[in-house]
Amino acid sequence: MKKIEVNAATCIACGACYQIAPHAFQPNESGISVPVKELVESVDELTIEAMESCPVAAITIEDVEDAE
Ligand code: SF4
Repeated sequence: MKKIEVNAATCIACGACYQIAPHAFQPNESGISVPVKELVESVDELTIEAMESCPVAAITIEDVEDAE
């Protein structure tokens, strides 16, 4: 499993991630990005591209052993 997280304190609501990968990220009412699903089986290329496109590196994707 992979865990997708957005640091809401770092996110500047630029919109890049949810424009690139709207299936993985969505804006909250303030434009701050929120993962559509935090725990996923795998991440696709668009999700990686979105993470890499974040100008403030607010997005992290890490391996997790167990889903809770
Ligand atoms: S790309 Fe980064 S700064 Fe821009 S909305 Fe997404 S998480 Fe926030």
